Amino acid sequence: MKILVLNCGSSSIKYQVFDMGDESVLAKGIVERIGIEGSFLDHKVLQGEQEFKQEEDIPDHSRGIKVVFGILVDEKFGVIKSLDEIKAVGHRVAHGGEYFPRSTMVGDEELRKIEELSRLAPLHNPHNANGIKTVKEILPGVPQVAVFDTSFHQSMEKAAYVYPLPYKFYEEMGVRRYGFHGTSHKYVAQKAAEILQKRVEDLKIITLHLGNGASVTAIKNGKSIDTSMGFTPLEGLVMGTRCGDIDPAIITFLQKNKEWDAEKIDNLLNKESGLLGISGISSDSRDIEEAAAKGEKRAQLAIDITCFRIKKYIGAYAAAMGGVDLLVFTAGIGENSSIVREKAVEGLEFLGIKIDKEKNSVRGQLAEVSIKESPVKIMVVPTDEELVIARDTAKIINGFSGS
Ligand code: ADP
Repeated sequence: MKILVLNCGSSSIKYQVFDMGDESVLAKGIVERIGIEGSFLDHKVLQGEQEFKQEEDIPDHSRGIKVVFGILVDEKFGVIKSLDEIKAVGHRVAHGGEYFPRSTMVGDEELRKIEELSRLAPLHNPHNANGIKTVKEILPGVPQVAVFDTSFHQSMEKAAYVYPLPYKFYEEMGVRRYGFHGTSHKYVAQKAAEILQKRVEDLKIITLHLGNGASVTAIKNGKSIDTSMGFTPLEGLVMGTRCGDIDPAIITFLQKNKEWDAEKIDNLLNKESGLLGISGISSDSRDIEEAAAKGEKRAQLAIDITCFRIKKYIGAYAAAMGGVDLLVFTAGIGENSSIVREKAVEGLEFLGIKIDKEKNSVRGQLAEVSIKESPVKIMVVPTDEELVIARDTAKIINGFSGS
């Protein structure tokens, strides 16, 4: 059975085609710069390692999805003979609010809710909904499944998700902590437990998804009990260009002293802060590590702040769960940066967290990086959100409930 996984962003569409027989990826790619000059398709066929790039005017998502379907059935670079071979389409959807504690088949009612949730995720949900509508137009009979970034965290209790604001803001407007990256946190926790030959239900796990966006989750007995991203993906850790946790009074301070409006402040916190803001060099951790190695003080400071804050979350989540058995690092930085991993757990030996510096030199592959005697295991697990989406989609169309 072939399943197409789509991730429709504001100006891009990422896709992967899975053969669920052996869960192999047949093709994957991205349509970028939708609605912007210079749009293009970058398509890879996994078997035979062929790559195809084409610049093409792609004014909207509808055209973008048609371009994807076109290349999938292409004589030379295609991986299916006809679109009939696609038995279902799984979509990554940013926000499921309180409606969707698990992945779901998308009918009219679900689509309406996804669109309604655009008020909470204006940069993502409208594009996700658009993708669903376009597929419905092109492949009307094909089942579509939505997998939400927020679902995994719906297990949090009120003590973890209600903000200490007047309660009516939660009741009337849905202002609460939701958390994101749920698919990734869940996947790497399960994978790490599997490798250790333990049941995820028997473990206290802290998963660290450190990419351009970054979040950490406390997973107790297989359930997310707290996570660092909140109402939006701005809360929590230091990110590429996002500030993470700051004193909210800084916002009113800027409003009063600089007369900045909401848009300017939004831009500052989301696009000009984090690694980029501190270092003044780049939002990319590779550039930061390179600059720090050359003695750039603010690049070093960016690393120090990032790691100090990760460490504090590890301590907090160990407290929240009454202990910790396993730390899992994932995503671009978590999978590749031995510097960040080492510095983030430095001094946590008192919690039983002991990293092996030699093993920790690993990049981008599954590995255990704690010393043998470490009571807390530390693992690097490459994330695979698309595979989870494909699996959930297959499960749901076969009549099982989503995860
Ligand atoms: P996202 O999916 O959130 O856009 P990724 O998970 O791809 O982000 O992570 C991007 C981050 O990972 C960037 O900061 C990048 O520098 C970092 N990264 C990737 N490879 C390495 C590496 N070898 N060393 C350090 N950081 C790396």
